[in-house]
Amino acid sequence: MTLAGDSTAGGPARLPVGPFGKHGPLVTRLGFGGIPIQQLPEADAVAVVRKCYNAGIRLFDTAYGYTNSEERIGKALAGVRDEVFVITKSPARDRETLRTHFETSLRRTGFERFDVFLFHNVVSHDHLSAILGGADLMGWMRRQQEAGRVGLIGISSHRAETAVDCLKTGEFAAVEFPFNYLEDQALPELLPLARETGTAFLAMKPMAGGALSSGRAAIKWLMAQPDVLAIPGMMTLQQVDEAVAAATGEPGLTPDEEAAIARDRRELSGTFCRRCGYCLPCPQGIEINTVVSSELFLNRAGWQRANEAYLKMLEHAIDNCQQCGECEARCPYYLPLSELVKATAVRVAEKVRARLGRQQADMGR
Ligand code: SF4
Ligand code: SF4
Repeated sequence: MTLAGDSTAGGPARLPVGPFGKHGPLVTRLGFGGIPIQQLPEADAVAVVRKCYNAGIRLFDTAYGYTNSEERIGKALAGVRDEVFVITKSPARDRETLRTHFETSLRRTGFERFDVFLFHNVVSHDHLSAILGGADLMGWMRRQQEAGRVGLIGISSHRAETAVDCLKTGEFAAVEFPFNYLEDQALPELLPLARETGTAFLAMKPMAGGALSSGRAAIKWLMAQPDVLAIPGMMTLQQVDEAVAAATGEPGLTPDEEAAIARDRRELSGTFCRRCGYCLPCPQGIEINTVVSSELFLNRAGWQRANEAYLKMLEHAIDNCQQCGECEARCPYYLPLSELVKATAVRVAEKVRARLGRQQADMGR
């Protein structure tokens, strides 16, 4: 088997490589997740993607839904398309939308083909039925495959039971699923099934949306899991360096990294929001995921980030949450949002008010 790409064989950093399931080529086990570059100015985004390529990364993940991400990845990799392995996705439930999304993805990137197409976020049997049954989305994608416009076809999902059912159909060559040292619901069944069926396993959210305290420990933990490919989102050149250093460094966790993992497991279990956004929108316009992850965010990013506007956002949740439970029904992690949204907003707003009050008193002195 050859590395997707070629002669660069893992690139200058000698990243570990592994097969993309039983149907794919060898790829670098450290890939690039295309969500965070949406927030950057275009030149910076292109520079980050290019840096990944120069560092040896050959696996790139994007999606129709990631706004400008496809275009930026296309620009960064235009001259090296044959050396990289590129994945895109669409959440379409009908053929016309699927066709529009897929054609748009090709046009945005400027590529003639994708190496992998994933049906995006398949978390219900209705969606699976649309793919394999009535709407026969798979039939349309198979024709793209025959025409050489896509290599392999798979799914992404946030629900282990649905992902397992998808893999059992034998129709999918790849599965992308949240996987990190805190979110390991793929371990008992999904990952073993992926291994058994030769389905490529892509670990999305390898750093739990930035919530894990040690990115290095997170990457090393994933590299220690056989057959797992990791696609962390990266948005700075430094993050690329750190991820590559973690993937190419001494395997095995240091005592400090073990301690960081143990601490995160202790502090972030239970009501930990993964920021997937599936709870949105709230009928009252509450920024649910921002509210429920606010304390963790401020603890990590610094409480100076909580300004008047931030306090207003929390107060809007306190005043308007009807505790209707709509968001709770949509949360794939079963967080008790009917209670949690309001309770978190009350607790964090109190701390922010105290801090802003102190600041004003200091200024008045
Ligand atoms: S509250 Fe649940 S659904 Fe909403 S972002 Fe967090 S984990 Fe996702
Ligand atoms: S429980 Fe509160 S935050 Fe959730 S959808 Fe209802 S009003 Fe919005």
